[in-house]
Amino acid sequence: ARAAAPGYLQGLNPEQRLAVETTEGPLLVLAGAGTGKTRVLTTRIAHILSLGLAYPSQILAVTFTNKAAREMKERIGVLVGGAVEGMPWLGTFHSIGVKILRRHAELAGLRSDFTILDTDDVIRLIKQLIQADGLDDKRWPARTFANMIDGWKNKGLGPSEIPEGDARSFANGKGRQLYQAYQDRLKTLNACDFGDLLCHPIRILRANPDILREYNARFKYILVDEYQDTNTAQYMWLRLLAQRPQTQRGEKEPINICCVGDDDQSIYGWRGAEVDNILRFEKDFPGASVVRLERNYRSTAHILGAASHLIAHNEGRLGKTLFTEAANPDDDRVHVHAAWDSEEEARAVGETIEQAQRRGHNLNDMAILVRASFQMREFEDRFVTLGLNYRVVGGPRFYERLEIRDAMAYFRVVAQPADDLAFERVVNTPKRGLGEAAIRQVHDYARARDIPMLAAATDLVATEELKPKPRSALKQVVDNFNRWHSLLDSKPHTELAEMILDESGYTAMWQNDRTAEAPGRLENLKELIRSMEEYESLRSFLEHVALVMDAEQNEELDAVNIMTLHSAKGLEFETVFLPGWEEGLFPHQRSLDEGGRSGLEEERRLAYVGLTRAKKNLHIWFVSNRRIHGMWQSTIPSRFLEELPEAHVEVAESSNSYGGYGQSRFDRADPFQNSYSTPGWQRAQQNRSEATRSNWGSRSGANVERIGYGEADSGFGAGRGSVKGRT
Ligand code: ATP
Ligand code: MG
Repeated sequence: ARAAAPGYLQGLNPEQRLAVETTEGPLLVLAGAGTGKTRVLTTRIAHILSLGLAYPSQILAVTFTNKAAREMKERIGVLVGGAVEGMPWLGTFHSIGVKILRRHAELAGLRSDFTILDTDDVIRLIKQLIQADGLDDKRWPARTFANMIDGWKNKGLGPSEIPEGDARSFANGKGRQLYQAYQDRLKTLNACDFGDLLCHPIRILRANPDILREYNARFKYILVDEYQDTNTAQYMWLRLLAQRPQTQRGEKEPINICCVGDDDQSIYGWRGAEVDNILRFEKDFPGASVVRLERNYRSTAHILGAASHLIAHNEGRLGKTLFTEAANPDDDRVHVHAAWDSEEEARAVGETIEQAQRRGHNLNDMAILVRASFQMREFEDRFVTLGLNYRVVGGPRFYERLEIRDAMAYFRVVAQPADDLAFERVVNTPKRGLGEAAIRQVHDYARARDIPMLAAATDLVATEELKPKPRSALKQVVDNFNRWHSLLDSKPHTELAEMILDESGYTAMWQNDRTAEAPGRLENLKELIRSMEEYESLRSFLEHVALVMDAEQNEELDAVNIMTLHSAKGLEFETVFLPGWEEGLFPHQRSLDEGGRSGLEEERRLAYVGLTRAKKNLHIWFVSNRRIHGMWQSTIPSRFLEELPEAHVEVAESSNSYGGYGQSRFDRADPFQNSYSTPGWQRAQQNRSEATRSNWGSRSGANVERIGYGEADSGFGAGRGSVKGRT
């Protein structure tokens, strides 16, 4: 007879338990959202430890975010009863990559104290190389090339390995040579970029069989969460580590690798993730077991029904069955709300949150998940007005973003010419050829006379003290600031603000920027201008922002969570708000333009991720009008609304203050018109699960294209922010 199962196994369903107890050999857990994949991974580690199958240091466990790694460590401690003695190899791909690289840095031509460069450093470096080569860095922007290098590194390609076409496409065919020069320069600087954190270890492990053997012998168990979002380099790295040393008799021990994932939640195709890695698993690891989890423990039947129906509109999927036993007649349906505009949307969401709070709900249990970061602004402002605590997860708050801080610095100098901090921030942003020496001169001049820097600069450009080049550059800045300042009272402040960003070259700087974040930054700048309309003057706006910035952002505080859909992956909340379900915003226009059909499917997976974050209450919003550049534009409800099954959705009565106008518009553009003719969710679900069972594994070729844009920061909250925070 079996001894009673240890506590941590109790409560698992049979499939979950199988996945936990099948510790030997390769195992893939492929399952939909909320079925306990992450819980299985955590319990599996606890199981391995408590059976004494391995020491904590012999387990390699990869999570998607640092936060997830921390939580997993805590949970394991709880499960095995007592603190786990370190899990040195539990972390993100990047954080584990750094660790390996530090141990063998010399094999990559680095010292173990190498620095990790952020994007700005990387771009500065590349720009120097481009100029050193006598190339025009306007024609061949450093940012474009930085982006290309990042793409190559995501694929694990070094300078000699990039395709000929790629190499030719940049700088008159000098792509390869520049890439090589960049790598050489990094070595000289004893530095590496994010991509190197994986690419260097891959090269080291390949070139040094003895080191590879050491790791292969060390890692008795390998576990990977969110496997659907691994990119090629991460995959290559894993494959190297997931090998077993040969035994004396030449046999190979089984590889104890367990990957969990959900093809429907692959949302990083635009950053090079290859959902096909998950499809290849059984080929890569012969003899692999596959466990499918079908019971969702997270969400109500209505939420799950809505999500399953929506994702069924994607073609390229493996298909999975999902059910829940949490079918309670009292459960709310998914609420769809219409609002006149985003201001009303924020107001109504704020009201709903306050009501819930009065009924005793914690703010921590609520989340607002946006498609694009600019959407956060309206909610942040509203919550500050209401005195409602909030935190922005996985990225800076709206007014803390790099581009917003830069723009605000311009406005501050215009409104308040003695603001030296602001002046220093933007005097050479965008780059105007004002070197440190010139700025120091202005500084010293100002200090000596106890006057503001702008005043000092105004004096200085009238003298011969500066070298001619910086002098004319500085003169232009000074003239601009003085002119803008003189318009402060005569020109409407939003027009003035736009003028400042245009004439200073700041807008153009981002327009010429080819990185994935640039489009999001431009959107944020537009949103900034838009938000000013609500204030009387530039000064009152600046004052408002100062107050918003002062609002506390404290992890301990009970606070509403605001984040992008991308950074919500793996998380769950009692109540979820999904605003901005309009065509063009969600699905996002850029993903449609650049990614075509696969772009749309990735957007739909993002919607699926959003819906499945909710445990009990789900509120979706769309607005009838968005004001862009001061002009009203009427919007069309997202096609994803049409794809929600009628049986699980309730279209909320309009609660707006526009005499029901929002409601009647909604009627005219009834997003559910078409769904009346589609079969109910239950039947569709049944049909589909039959179809998909036979479909298993038959999905053909890669369908994920790289889309050259991304929600700003969305990637950083995850894989990358792990190593170093960024804005
Ligand atoms: P996602 O795809 O969103 O990452 P997941 O498959 O990783 O989801 P988990 O986050 O592990 O799912 O689990 C979802 C929720 O269900 C968690 O709150 C988890 O504690 C709970 N859960 C999982 N398995 C069980 C179980 N056997 N009994 C009770 N609750 C469970
Ligand atoms: Mg998970």
